[in-house]
Amino acid sequence: MADKTIPTQIEETDDGQILFNVPLPKNPEQFKDLSPIILKQPYHIDYIHSYGQDSPWFAGLANKRLLGTKCQKCGYQFATPKLSCMECGSDCDWVEMPLEGNLHTFTVCEFGSEEFLKETPYILCLVEFEGFNTLLLSRLIGVNPREASLDWVGMKVKAKFRRNSKFKPTDVYFVPA
Ligand SMILES: [Zn+2]
Repeated sequence: MADKTIPTQIEETDDGQILFNVPLPKNPEQFKDLSPIILKQPYHIDYIHSYGQDSPWFAGLANKRLLGTKCQKCGYQFATPKLSCMECGSDCDWVEMPLEGNLHTFTVCEFGSEEFLKETPYILCLVEFEGFNTLLLSRLIGVNPREASLDWVGMKVKAKFRRNSKFKPTDVYFVPA
């Protein structure tokens, strides 16, 4: 049996040679037999987009404040931006949220999108706030994901904000209060 510490094949990479010319068959009828040319090239795009009606929420984070919304008609309170009430369809107003809440539930993420992959394992949490009818999805920091416990449910948590706002939902995260 092969020793697992000794590699039995060379590591695969996606690097290649620089290709300056591709030979073309003399007979045009053979062109379709040419192997496909596969390129690796960097791709960059500047994407200008708008947060639209959700903009105050991000401006709030940049000022270390959490904003929620409240239905003008039925009073339903959302812990997220919501310009139209999901209960009755009426308009909502912005309201200030408390910076402390309780841990409703959480999950330890062993995998993530490219941006978060290097931070695994990390904890996603849902936070509940006094007087608000919905939860806020965020990150829980300051506890060891390897010691995750159901005892955490109900724990008091407080919001912390990135000092340099990136104008992303991750500008806010929670730590035990
Ligand atoms: Zn409503």
